[in-house]
Amino acid sequence: MKIPARLLEEARRRCSPDAECPAFLFGRGETVLTWSWLRNVLNSPVAFLLDPEEMYKAVAEAESSGLDLVAIFHTHPGPPAPSPLDLRYMRLWPVVWVISNIYTWETAAWRLKDGKAAPVRLEWI
Ligand SMILES: [Zn+2]
Repeated sequence: MKIPARLLEEARRRCSPDAECPAFLFGRGETVLTWSWLRNVLNSPVAFLLDPEEMYKAVAEAESSGLDLVAIFHTHPGPPAPSPLDLRYMRLWPVVWVISNIYTWETAAWRLKDGKAAPVRLEWI
């Protein structure tokens, strides 16, 4: 999956270890073109939950410009691998999941394959 490096630059500026920091990534096919930062309504350092109204607005806006939801981004206070809760939501949202370590910015991408998280190759553009 190709993602603009600007995403991580923005994440470094706006995200903190106080709360996981989610965004919807929009684009076409395997390329991310734009994104919407979303509020973590749990305000938790170890989990995130999105507001359905905000999610709907972000997706509707992107779709009106011909873009699809291609990935979901969020930060972790540790390794960028899906948590058990992430795996549960990956079943509901079968797009690529991009996770960054909030301290090191090590970033990895995953897609659910046969019930397990399989790594997706990331290319920063
Ligand atoms: Zn997570």
